[in-house]
Amino acid sequence: MTAPQAACLQAALEIGYHLLDRGASLLAAVEQVIRVLEQSGLFNAGKGARRQLDGVRRMDASIMEGLSLRAGAVASIEGIVHPIAAARLVMEETHHVLLVGPMATAFARYFKLEGQQTGRLIRRLSYGAMLERKQLLRDRHGTVGAVARDRSGTVAAGASTGGIDRMLPGRVGDTPIIGCGVYADNQSGAVSMTGIGEGIIRIAAAKEICDRLALRQSPVAAAKAVLKKLVTRIDGAAGALVLAPNGRFAIRHVTPRMAAGWWDGNGTPTVGDQFQ
Ligand code: ASP
Repeated sequence: MTAPQAACLQAALEIGYHLLDRGASLLAAVEQVIRVLEQSGLFNAGKGARRQLDGVRRMDASIMEGLSLRAGAVASIEGIVHPIAAARLVMEETHHVLLVGPMATAFARYFKLEGQQTGRLIRRLSYGAMLERKQLLRDRHGTVGAVARDRSGTVAAGASTGGIDRMLPGRVGDTPIIGCGVYADNQSGAVSMTGIGEGIIRIAAAKEICDRLALRQSPVAAAKAVLKKLVTRIDGAAGALVLAPNGRFAIRHVTPRMAAGWWDGNGTPTVGDQFQ
């Protein structure tokens, strides 16, 4: 993690905590924390989102709240800085959970969300050439996410991403898929995932961690068990933010590093990139 990334994480944690302390809603706090990270350009989300193999930035985001189990998400959205804001608008302004592609972009434009260049068709690769490049799948993680809890014990989770390296145009990862990249339920907890989305989807990681919390496993035990399953069953790589309604939490990863942090309002926020 670079020094600017550490400073940005710390600032985001302070902003989120102070919003909650001043009575803002949990969802407003989660959205704002993720907005700070999207705006920074320092992570793989928002201004820093990576491009798909045709040169276009298509982003995914989701948000979920654990009291009512309401959720909103966007996939393959283009040309905006804050996909997390679009995800929250899907949740609050529609009866839907997920909007995709150009229609998600049109939705965000209708609500006048801040725009950015999509980077359209910088590289004119044939489909065959793109498929060959796709074989070199690897990932520099950098999705941004947050989990939070208010005084009443309601939890929420969100995430926003530009996807993974060398992805085919139209590829959608775990981040906007409720139960895979994100889940929140006051009866279990809140989870936000990062890592190679294909593996995270295949084991529905966020929901499985929550199911284990509901069976009274600790956040550390639940995260460890699901990350172990990801590695042993499908050779996946990921990290998880896990928060129980009682305030216990875990930051775990089976990747060499995961830039993350936490704050309960005492002292200064803790940020780091190795948590086991
Ligand atoms: N999970 C994201 C995706 O697969 C990528 C990441 O976390 O870095 O789209």
